[in-house]
Amino acid sequence: MSHNPRKRFGQNFLVDDQIINRIISTINPKNNEIIVEIGPGKGALTLPILEHLDHLNVIEIDRDLVSLLNSLQQDKLTIFEADALQFDFNQFPQKIRVIGNLPYNISSPLLFHLLDFREQIIDMTFMLQKEVVDRIVSTHGNKTYGRLSVMMQAFFEVESMFVVPKESFEPQPKIESAILYLKTRTEPLVKNPKPLEEIVKIAFSQRRKTLKNCLKSIINQSQTEIDLSQRAEMLSIENFITLMNDYEKQN
Ligand code: SAM
Repeated sequence: MSHNPRKRFGQNFLVDDQIINRIISTINPKNNEIIVEIGPGKGALTLPILEHLDHLNVIEIDRDLVSLLNSLQQDKLTIFEADALQFDFNQFPQKIRVIGNLPYNISSPLLFHLLDFREQIIDMTFMLQKEVVDRIVSTHGNKTYGRLSVMMQAFFEVESMFVVPKESFEPQPKIESAILYLKTRTEPLVKNPKPLEEIVKIAFSQRRKTLKNCLKSIINQSQTEIDLSQRAEMLSIENFITLMNDYEKQN
């Protein structure tokens, strides 16, 4: 069955066996694990991973690709025809591992959706735009450090594993990709993401401005020990948590 790639679903299919094998060794799937793949597409990762497992769950939004996967008659595969952004990852009987060559157009909202299920997730191995991976693993003081870095690192240990060239895909994307590994922290740096998200979003809304300027409607210098004459990118994650705690004391 042929399939024309759909841009709106971020379809860039992996066609490089070496890279596929490297991703699978990085995931290191084991039989007793519940693994959920987001966006199986035509099965580039799905089929080789199934060789290691008795069962695999996949979530695919594209009806035609769901038909294609069904036609493979893989009884070890449970196919959810669904939008991963709406998917309830709590529905499995034990903690899950999540994997996928993610549709790039929804990578940030998807990561934030998955953040809501962090307690159900052991770890996640994703292919993303290299630029997004760089932002997620970045540390304070760097230009790439921002909202995604703080929010992901507060709840996950993150690691950029390796770069994947454009030539590994069909059709070829315009940009390089990379493999990102995220492991849920057993002791998250903060319990509730919402107030942290609120502060971080405002703090980075105008990166060139000082925190004093960005945050003036919610907190002032007399209410926190964090030096608000700095810009957001200078604050470590721990500093942001202190700022959040000081902000919460006001409410
Ligand atoms: N895993 C395949 C591969 O590596 O060749 C396909 C990867 S492709 C980058 C992304 C896949 O995610 C496509 O199959 C696409 O249809 C699917 N997809 C896009 N948006 C989705 C969504 N919201 N929920 C679930 N799947 C989605």
